Amino acid sequence: MKPAAFEYHRVATAEEAIDRLAELGEDAKVLAGGQSLVPMMNFRIVRPPALVDVSRVPDLAYLARDGDALRIGALALHRDVEHARDDLLDGFGVLKHAAPLVGHMPIRARGTFGGSVAHGDPASEWCLLAVALGAEIVARGPDGERTVPADEFFLGFFTTALEPGELLCEVRFPAPRPRAALEEFARRHGDYAIVAAAVALDGEPRVVIGGVDAVPVRAGAAEAVLAGGEPDAEAIEEAAQAAAGEVDPGSDVHGSADYRRKLTAVMVRRALHRAVGDGA
Ligand code: FAD
Repeated sequence: MKPAAFEYHRVATAEEAIDRLAELGEDAKVLAGGQSLVPMMNFRIVRPPALVDVSRVPDLAYLARDGDALRIGALALHRDVEHARDDLLDGFGVLKHAAPLVGHMPIRARGTFGGSVAHGDPASEWCLLAVALGAEIVARGPDGERTVPADEFFLGFFTTALEPGELLCEVRFPAPRPRAALEEFARRHGDYAIVAAAVALDGEPRVVIGGVDAVPVRAGAAEAVLAGGEPDAEAIEEAAQAAAGEVDPGSDVHGSADYRRKLTAVMVRRALHRAVGDGA
């Protein structure tokens, strides 16, 4: 199918994008890599009357260190994370490990980090890791810039705290989390995961599950198990079972609720073993 008719506006700066969005009204949409938006338009799941193409805004395509923090510009491609220098991602190796799991190579060559987070798919690797690593989302709109903790950013299926007319500009990871890991199960490489788990152990432990609800879900009971100190194999098993016990997934063609609950335990167990470095 082809999309419904729409107006197309290409902009060269973030400021121009914000001005143009304000002029076009709240139904206009930002076009970044187009890897989610264009298929949804082709299937007429969405029919935006106007697109503001930010894909050639050079100022938003970067990965940079700022002291301990890692700043990823909204237009950094998945591929840029996959091929980033190791020293740039020092303490954030989990991002590089997860990057090849995002779709296929042509998707990673066009899809953007900010686009994934703005899209808000509950099984998206970047959405899970934003929550697991305590990221902050930087958005700019007609009223200026604001920062939203990733924990508060994902509100529902494909729904985020971004207001109409706001541009997601940066995802900021405040501190290195070297002992973090992401594991997922998809039937074919490149598909969205049926269930994914992201864990981070440095500082306050976090366990985040994707594919079991409308948003990435923090598994509080599992996190409580891990708060007791360095997890051994017994604590890892206890956390994995706790996570499986607290998710409430639905059933669909990809898997039943029971199957997703079992996968949750397996993914959390694997991710925790990887995070503590025993490679299981
Ligand atoms: P677009 O498609 O351009 O936009 C997506 C949405 O975000 C739109 O609503 C748009 O208005 C909004 N948006 C984009 N950028 C901004 C911004 N800066 N500010 C405000 N709003 C913005 N993703 C995964 O995470 N994991 C996968 O395994 C995976 N597999 C895929 C497999 C296939 C076959 C395909 C087609 C896609 C897959 N994707 C997967 C999606 C891919 O990662 C997309 O790149 C990503 O979801 C959206 O990024 P984009 O830059 O293409 O955004």
